[in-house]
Amino acid sequence: MSMRSVLRQSPAVRAALRVPRTVPSVLSSVRAPTASASRAAVRSFSSTVHRDDEFESPFGVNSLAKFSEEEEMLRETVRRFAENEVKPRVEAMDEAEKMDPAIIQGLFEQGLMAIETDPDLGGAGCSFMSAIIVIEELAKVDPAVSVLCDVHNTLVNTVLRKYANDQLKQKYMPQLSSGTLGCFCLSEPASGSDAFAMKTTVKKSDDGKHYIINGSKMWITNSAEAEFFIVFAQGDASKGYKGISAFAVEKNMGVEIAKKERKLGIRASSTCTVNFDEVKVPVENLIGEEGKGYKIAIEILNEGRVGIGAQMVGLAQGAFDRAMQYAFDRVQFGKPIAKFQGMQFQMAQIATEIEAARDMVYNAARRKEEGRPFTKEAAMAKLFSSQVAQRAAGSAIEWCGGQGFTREQGIEKYWRDSKIGAIYEGTSNIQLNTIFQITAKEHGY
Ligand SMILES: Cc1cc2nc3c(=O)[nH]c(=O)nc-3n(C[C@H](O)[C@H](O)[C@H](O)COP(=O)(O)OP(=O)(O)OC[C@H]3O[C@@H](n4cnc5c(N)ncnc54)[C@H](O)[C@@H]3O)c2cc1C
Repeated sequence: MSMRSVLRQSPAVRAALRVPRTVPSVLSSVRAPTASASRAAVRSFSSTVHRDDEFESPFGVNSLAKFSEEEEMLRETVRRFAENEVKPRVEAMDEAEKMDPAIIQGLFEQGLMAIETDPDLGGAGCSFMSAIIVIEELAKVDPAVSVLCDVHNTLVNTVLRKYANDQLKQKYMPQLSSGTLGCFCLSEPASGSDAFAMKTTVKKSDDGKHYIINGSKMWITNSAEAEFFIVFAQGDASKGYKGISAFAVEKNMGVEIAKKERKLGIRASSTCTVNFDEVKVPVENLIGEEGKGYKIAIEILNEGRVGIGAQMVGLAQGAFDRAMQYAFDRVQFGKPIAKFQGMQFQMAQIATEIEAARDMVYNAARRKEEGRPFTKEAAMAKLFSSQVAQRAAGSAIEWCGGQGFTREQGIEKYWRDSKIGAIYEGTSNIQLNTIFQITAKEHGY
């Protein structure tokens, strides 16, 4: 969370967060290396005791473990929010298959629902990596809360931030920063992986003042609680994917929330069918240009995939941390089960895989921030992180024995939640397809 957001909190909330009131300039992102920092870094090669700032590379190149002060502070703030506010509610929300409204309100109050949004529009104005950190930290405690925050930030806010005109940003971004939840409506009953085969149609009204949307979207995350919808619709099927446009739609324009899915995992996250029956949307609510919706969807999902990678890394770490603690507490044959080499090697293997997945996610995020190509890296990060999440959560159940299999311990929830990583924002096969296409191109084919 940016300092601006911290300072916006009430004294009680600040006290709860235990964040000092005056922390210097956390909005200054990456610090320029200084001579003293370089000297300190050189010293660090020969010292066994390090301070954080001594890790600054004297050569101007840093590891993926380097974060700005703002990012570090945000991680700590989210960690506390997740432990104090989310953790006590996880089991009940999963059993009820419903998000506690206090969590959504808390996320908005903490400034976590407008992470990259410009401060003039009520946001924190932080980096993409900041969003990744928030998603990862929330997923350690509850991947369902994490995806609510992820979709709102990396899909909904980002579409408006990157493609909407100033008028549309002014109209919607302040409310999306302060309390209105958003969702992203692309998939349909007959078009999932083949998203651009959508059947939802859009046409202009006779007086030219509105677009009229008809059709059904399926699997829409956040839709039970949302008031704002980014909707993709086909305006001219003869043009194929080039007939698709994106719209900013308010619930009160006539959007109907239909069947809520009963799911294996992330059960507190709502997933519903959303119907549009002659929904009239003002012409000024077109996002970007007519016929450019496909481009918006492709580019946004590239970013979104890094977010899902972060969700899966957080999930894997959350399951691992719980199982590690159990393995040191649980005594068999006269000693903690973590003392058996058979357990240690399995845990070391999973710890290594989580580290690799995290590095892939951070690398994709930093590449995006630097303006480098990152489509392949995002696909690889999502693919691998979701595989690691399944392995980590599955192993965690086994390491905790019978306790791991019970619902009360919350370990099995991580495994149930992990399965979605291979499905949404592009299935694993679709990621493999993207990775192969780009790799083949890199090889000149
Ligand atoms: C909990 C949840 C939340 C979701 N949230 C949203 C949301 O907020 N917004 C939204 O728009 N959508 C959302 N989705 C939809 C999600 O993105 C789709 O489910 C996903 O893209 C897959 O589409 P599908 O389910 O139709 O599967 P299909 O496309 O029918 O795929 C079924 C299987 O076929 C494989 N397959 C398909 N095509 C190919 C191919 N060319 N090559 C190889 N294999 C292939 C797939 O990999 C998969 O294994 C959500 C889905 C779920 C389950």
